[in-house]
Amino acid sequence: MSNAPHTWPRLFVANQLIEEDFFELSLEQSRYLTQVMRLREGDYVRVFNGLDGDWKASLNQMGKGKKNGVILRTESRLRRQEAEPDLWLCAAPIKRNHFDFTVMKATELGVCVIQPIITSRTQVRDINIERARTIAIEAAEQSERLTIPEIREPVTLVSYIESWTNDRLAVLCAEYGDAQPIAQAFSGPLAQTRPKAAIFTGPEGGFAPDEMEKLRSLPEILPVRLGPRILRADTAALAALSCWQALCGDWPEKNDAPERV
Ligand code: SAM
Repeated sequence: MSNAPHTWPRLFVANQLIEEDFFELSLEQSRYLTQVMRLREGDYVRVFNGLDGDWKASLNQMGKGKKNGVILRTESRLRRQEAEPDLWLCAAPIKRNHFDFTVMKATELGVCVIQPIITSRTQVRDINIERARTIAIEAAEQSERLTIPEIREPVTLVSYIESWTNDRLAVLCAEYGDAQPIAQAFSGPLAQTRPKAAIFTGPEGGFAPDEMEKLRSLPEILPVRLGPRILRADTAALAALSCWQALCGDWPEKNDAPERV
């Protein structure tokens, strides 16, 4: 087995992570390590729990029988816990595979909250939160992030606007009506001085005119245009999140991947 941590499998666990501690993995994670990754006793993995950073751990005991998972032994911390930028995605649910794709990519792009917003033209109204969370965990494991985004229960746009607390900048992806080109908007004083943001994207059919008006009436709203073409909702979300991270988020700060020891 290679000694380079970035080659070791990385798992999200619920356990507290302290030095020289032992804990049992779920049967699913145990099967993944032993049958898919073919790891054996003494081999290394990386674990994180969203609170204690990234840790090196070794396979201490293989699962006995079908009912017991692999026992891991934590060795040392590889990376301290760091928060992701305070960036939310408020997206109208779209067809399942596109929404799954949005959750996966938004996790890689560093959002900390995904808020499904039910609008008048929303066709898909129920979201399988557990499924979305599983997709987010896998994307977090792969993208070396140290947290899992919170995936909230769907709310209607109307009630969300009524309860909006204005503690963050609202960015409206507007394919029609007044809007600034996104790079110009994110280079402007409003975006550059508000570290917390929520990006709003509409459903397949777009926001209805009355919904656009309500969104535009929010105290601090920044309508942005993502170029001259009409993008699919999932593409629009990715494009807006990438622009935010590049111009206002953590891409400028962190130009190198986590320490590859
Ligand atoms: N209303 C459109 C229609 O007529 O079918 C399409 C909506 S688009 C598929 C879904 C969402 O993506 C929109 O509500 C908007 O939030 C975002 N979007 C798509 N293209 C965009 C663009 N060029 N500029 C800004 N937002 C865009």
